[in-house]
Amino acid sequence: ATPAFKRALSTSRPALYAAAQASIPRTKLFINGEFIDSKTDKWIELRNPATQEIVTLVPEATPEELKYAADNSAEAFKTWRKTSILHRQRKMLDLQLLIRDNMDRIAHSITLEQGKTLADARGDVLRGLQVVEAACAVPHMIMGDTLEVATDMDTYTIREPLGVVAGITPFNFPAMIPLWMFPLANVIGNTCILKPSEKDPGATMILAELAQKAGIPAGVLNVVHGARDTVNFICDNEHIKAISFVGSDQAGQYIHERGSRNGKRVQANLGAKNHGIIMPDANKNHTLNQLTGAAFGAAGQRCMALSTVVFVGESKKWLPELVERAKKLKVSSGFEADADLGPLISPESLQRVERLIESGVKEGASLILDGRGLTVQKYEKGNFIGPSILTDVKTDMECYREEIFGPVLVCLNAETLDDAIDIINKNPYGNGTAIFTQSGATARKFANEVDAGQVGINVPIPVPLPMFSFTGSRGSIRGDVNFYGKSGISFYTSTKTVTALWRHEDADAHVSAVNMPTMK
Ligand code: NAD
Repeated sequence: ATPAFKRALSTSRPALYAAAQASIPRTKLFINGEFIDSKTDKWIELRNPATQEIVTLVPEATPEELKYAADNSAEAFKTWRKTSILHRQRKMLDLQLLIRDNMDRIAHSITLEQGKTLADARGDVLRGLQVVEAACAVPHMIMGDTLEVATDMDTYTIREPLGVVAGITPFNFPAMIPLWMFPLANVIGNTCILKPSEKDPGATMILAELAQKAGIPAGVLNVVHGARDTVNFICDNEHIKAISFVGSDQAGQYIHERGSRNGKRVQANLGAKNHGIIMPDANKNHTLNQLTGAAFGAAGQRCMALSTVVFVGESKKWLPELVERAKKLKVSSGFEADADLGPLISPESLQRVERLIESGVKEGASLILDGRGLTVQKYEKGNFIGPSILTDVKTDMECYREEIFGPVLVCLNAETLDDAIDIINKNPYGNGTAIFTQSGATARKFANEVDAGQVGINVPIPVPLPMFSFTGSRGSIRGDVNFYGKSGISFYTSTKTVTALWRHEDADAHVSAVNMPTMK
């Protein structure tokens, strides 16, 4: 924040406050190939979560601006869909190169706005880049089927783009999740409107700039900002044929319902409570190292964080060693080279996580590591909390039922593998899960019987690479078509089936067929 802004905050004089606001950088809209200033009077303050300094003001786009974006996307679709698949593939090849060259710049924006460590932010970009690289292979993946179904008659399928599609993304992966959406949508021939999280749109704005540099034409990718009104516009607008959403249950269920009611295709990935089962025969060091990284990395703000662990039998004796590992993690600004985890996204989020820890204690769990009340040198105002571990947790406790989304590991005990699987399958969520064991038979039984989208065997965060799809089950998903991979291509296309008869001489020229054909 500028000195003027700091003064204004301390005096709270309206005129000074207005002047200070005027000096803060404002995030732009990206419509029709141009970065434009919003004319809105509603601005959302985006603060660096490690310092509380204002980074930018994010506009809530006006209804006119939203309409302009949607009309422009519809117009751009008319020409973009007629370009050749190899032309669009070339644009993606150029885009992936630009993303690679700009990885550090995007990562810097993520750490500034979202808080995660620079190393983790690079991983955020890399996992998205891999989806762009896979999108370059779309000419092979989009091919239809063909069969000669009778003499001189062929049936073939064509996968066609839908038109304008939209993406609504969460704060926790500001590069990866937009990259799950627009590259695949665009390479297929759709135009796309993105609405990044209002908490960290910076990475998306850089991606829009890179798409422009890669020669992706005006209107093929538009970026709008805002909160609920912008989302409502996307759910209702006539041009938008499909919505990809990733985020919380509350928003996702609402968007899925409202978008579907308006006849749109909606894919929605929602919240999670990912369980890891630790069998007594697991490789102890590997398991504890993996568990520590997966529970506390990114300050637990990952949809695939391994936030809940079920110790089977004697494996619970490893808890003190887990605590030792967790204690060694350094909490600081994501820009500090030795930081293992950064701050939470907002003071409200910090309060919520602290409240959920407290509820666990009140309901009878043991808090064997308490990361609350942490003050980080140089970053005293940051939204920091250290790794925390609750043990003897029961399934009716609030800390078990809620997705905490902080660096808090919730530990349960079970006597047998069957009991542990039963706990997981009774949880309403089904995003990811993992087992640690050295027994192939145990792992196989687990993979067969557990009900979750992503299953890891000695792998704590089994996010599938983009030749597969990111799957989900039960409360973690709405809609039945997954992100990226073959499923992603299905989502962004509709299939047309053509049956054609081409014959030089027509032997049946004088006979009209009035009955359904039967086998001869
Ligand atoms: P969020 O739902 O608050 O925000 C996601 C998007 O929805 C944002 O663009 C936001 O502007 C919009 N939004 C928020 N509230 C809304 C409302 N009431 N009505 C309409 N739109 C609304 O989610 P978040 O806090 O940014 O992200 C964290 C959540 O995302 C966690 O629950 C996490 O598990 C989930 N997530 C899931 C996956 C997955 O693949 N399953 C991946 C990443 C994150």
